[in-house]
Amino acid sequence: MSQVNGYPTARDNLPNSPSLATNRADRRIPPPKQLMPNKPVPPPPTTNAAAGTSQPFDVLIIGSGLAGMSLALRLAENQKVALLTKGELLDAASAWAQGGIAAVLDDSDSAENHIRDTLVAGAGLCNEAAVRFVVENGRRAVEWLVAQGVPFTMDESNHAELHLTREGGHSHRRIVHAADATGRAVQKTLVQQLKSHPNIEVLEHRIAVDLITSKRLGRANENRCYGAYVLDKASGRVVTIDARFTVLATGGAGKVYLYTTNPDVATGDGVAMAWRAGCPVANMEFIQFHPTCLYHPQAKSYLITEAVRGEGGLLKIPGAEERFMLAHDERAELAPRDIVARAIDFEMKKRGLDFVHLDISHKSPEFLKEHFPNIYAKCLSLGIDITREPIPVVPAAHYTCGGVVSDLRGRTDVDNLYAIGEVSCTGLHGANRLASNSLLECLVFSEAVQHDIAAQAAPSFPVLPDWDDSRVTNADEEVIISHNWDELRRFMWDYVGIVRTDKRLERAMHRINLLKSEINDYYASFRVTNDLIELRNLVQTAELIVRSAMARKESRGLHYSLDYPATLPSAIDTVLKP
Ligand SMILES: Cc1cc2nc3c(=O)[nH]c(=O)nc-3n(C[C@H](O)[C@H](O)[C@H](O)COP(=O)(O)OP(=O)(O)OC[C@H]3O[C@@H](n4cnc5c(N)ncnc54)[C@H](O)[C@@H]3O)c2cc1C
Repeated sequence: MSQVNGYPTARDNLPNSPSLATNRADRRIPPPKQLMPNKPVPPPPTTNAAAGTSQPFDVLIIGSGLAGMSLALRLAENQKVALLTKGELLDAASAWAQGGIAAVLDDSDSAENHIRDTLVAGAGLCNEAAVRFVVENGRRAVEWLVAQGVPFTMDESNHAELHLTREGGHSHRRIVHAADATGRAVQKTLVQQLKSHPNIEVLEHRIAVDLITSKRLGRANENRCYGAYVLDKASGRVVTIDARFTVLATGGAGKVYLYTTNPDVATGDGVAMAWRAGCPVANMEFIQFHPTCLYHPQAKSYLITEAVRGEGGLLKIPGAEERFMLAHDERAELAPRDIVARAIDFEMKKRGLDFVHLDISHKSPEFLKEHFPNIYAKCLSLGIDITREPIPVVPAAHYTCGGVVSDLRGRTDVDNLYAIGEVSCTGLHGANRLASNSLLECLVFSEAVQHDIAAQAAPSFPVLPDWDDSRVTNADEEVIISHNWDELRRFMWDYVGIVRTDKRLERAMHRINLLKSEINDYYASFRVTNDLIELRNLVQTAELIVRSAMARKESRGLHYSLDYPATLPSAIDTVLKP
């Protein structure tokens, strides 16, 4: 794989560090005898130092993507909410979404159509109840956003209606969008409301280290979550945030791979934290590789939205400028993403190409500038005029279909702990996500969690121990973090990418074991930093991806194995239990 391809190298990320030292983590917590069992609310005065308050929050939401922000706004009417995020509020995949949000809004469309398209993309592995639940709540989710003031693009011929675009795998036009920067428009609208809401405490530049659970505290008679230990990046201190309910809305894990469309914050933290807390994790082998990421040395993780193909963009071999998708699938450029990504990967490997072309220059300049203003401007800034020439593109890791197992209320296996958005595995996506279903999932499940929390009495609350770092020192050699980060992402790309084999997976697992042991030692000896926390989570997530891939003895959806090219007659989820 060429390195001069416009993708981030490991150094482009905030490097992270290694793996989980379960022992270490346990050692940082005082023994359970320090706890006051089931002390009723309100809790002790030393809590929630990060927020400067002595009260527990009703709800701690970890993550400020669409899942986290929409939930915070919904809950804040009646609850006191802490919204925690690693960077600034807009540092999230949600703000990067270009294409839009899928929902049935047109009379010629129907919920049954959307359900069918989702099930087809999911290659037999979707949970039909979850699909139906999300699709049937789709219209209300979009209406909620409209009510918040999101400036969606309106239909040119009927200004009272939203413009609907079409994307790969969708049988109908059903994608609402704000030009080609939907996520940004949505998130910016929500941020305005969040920041001024009296019941929402926004805690930026704080990274959750681990969940505080009864298991961790040695409270054998419960299986509950009480909040999280959180590193305040400015002070370097780890503080305790107690909450009656905790919600993981931490997004995906694209940063496990060398080439990804995801922002730097997508390091699998929620999956790793939930796993350590005792939650089952499912279908982690299904990583969606977006087929068309811009190939240019100065473009970091810049995605060319599916809508370009939806509006007629054609994939071609550079030089010959011949289309190739028809040789791979009768739906050609509109085939589901896994098929398109594999076809590009196949053509690139067969012909020794660094990229292929995505050509939409046959459309009028006016059309392109109106529908894809950001892509037009971005490409032009790099010397590519999409009204006259094709765009060089390659596939890159894009979406984590698997995640923390959660039900239709967003509940996980640990009481009072929820998981929503990309971190979760609800069964909606099955073995492959249908384009633009993920933002929809964030919205539908934030509403479900709001209802579930509202229906419960506030639980009693114990005194939580402070984080103990009295036996660790500051790190002496940070190079181990950047080196291990680099190594991990590279071998995950090479061995656990679009096409897999048993041997490649074994190689990857061997390296993961070595890295884990190094990172555990490091974690046990030094104070936590943002990079160390993230790398520890990345390695944990990589292990779960490889273990899941090894367990699947077939090819299905996004998981393609040369050793098991056939799809088995029955579709079974890969569920790993801690
Ligand atoms: C370039 C791009 C384009 C996309 N386009 C579309 C599209 O058009 N339509 C669509 O439906 N989907 C799209 N997707 C997918 C979609 O954007 C994501 O699936 C969705 O935004 C996930 O939302 P989320 O709220 O679950 O997580 P995110 O939006 O990723 O937010 C996660 C949040 O968690 C925070 N966080 C993570 N770990 C921690 C921690 N340990 N402590 C504190 N905070 C933490 C992060 O800082 C971030 O704020 C796209 C994705 C990308 C990358």
